[in-house]
Amino acid sequence: MPIEDYLKAGKIASEVREMVRKKDWIGKSVFDICEEVEREIKKRGAKCAFPVNASINEIAAHYTAEPNDPITIKDTDLVKIDLGAQINGYIADTAVTVCYDVQFDGLVQAAEEGLANAMAMIKTGVKASDIGRTIETTIKQLGFKPIANLSGHSLEQYTIHAGRSIPNIWSIGGFSLAENSAYACEPFVTTNEGGGFVRNGQVKNIFAINSRKKTKNEEADKLLDFIWSNFNMLPFALRWLTKEWDEKKARELLEILVKKKAVQAYPVLIEVNEQRVAQAEHTFIPNEAGVTVTTAAL
Ligand code: MN
Ligand code: MN
Repeated sequence: MPIEDYLKAGKIASEVREMVRKKDWIGKSVFDICEEVEREIKKRGAKCAFPVNASINEIAAHYTAEPNDPITIKDTDLVKIDLGAQINGYIADTAVTVCYDVQFDGLVQAAEEGLANAMAMIKTGVKASDIGRTIETTIKQLGFKPIANLSGHSLEQYTIHAGRSIPNIWSIGGFSLAENSAYACEPFVTTNEGGGFVRNGQVKNIFAINSRKKTKNEEADKLLDFIWSNFNMLPFALRWLTKEWDEKKARELLEILVKKKAVQAYPVLIEVNEQRVAQAEHTFIPNEAGVTVTTAAL
């Protein structure tokens, strides 16, 4: 049953997120962080819905560790750890910002409050644009800026971004939340020195299948089959291929698949004024009476 799988995935993602929130990550490499968080998801009986993102400071999203990535967390860093668990393709998508520098407590708090106020207004039929207005108002009242071009999204089986967007600012139009459908809400917040937008960076270390059309390169097609059977349409990282292929070979074949457009590469997203960004995220299912936040803290 989808609903049971959504709840099961949500409970696991929530437990792992709270573990991440409490832990001291200073001095740890992003490689160790991503691998450890992914192990915690799998240990609890779910699969990873996507590679754990560990996006530092002005990188808002979409950074995951490269194999043996040496980048290490400093005590002044602000790190968004975004994780996903899935059961039979039904996804729980949740994030927490960890930061040990008290001068950024307000920024982290603004993302959390934006999310909490959004969750408090959810029920079937609520307009996504009204959720965006609540998030924007909350963040601005606390003296910060929402990131306008990042948003929450509808979820479907094996699909993270299933077509509907839940904005972090007020916007015209939009849709109304459907009964018993799954969505993620994820306010991103920057300071008033920030532009309030992200741009694509050069680095791309998250990938997903675009098409299963054969490339006519036998080795590349073998990798494509492996990706499909292990990750379906969901995102993956190079780290996830290096048990079966050595790193250099995997990189080479992945490059072929990207060039042939069988696989898509996602760039990291960077705040336009290179200001720090905080994030909070929950997955939820609206109903007549209100909402089930599948990733709520237990
Ligand atoms: Mn997420
Ligand atoms: Mn999300």
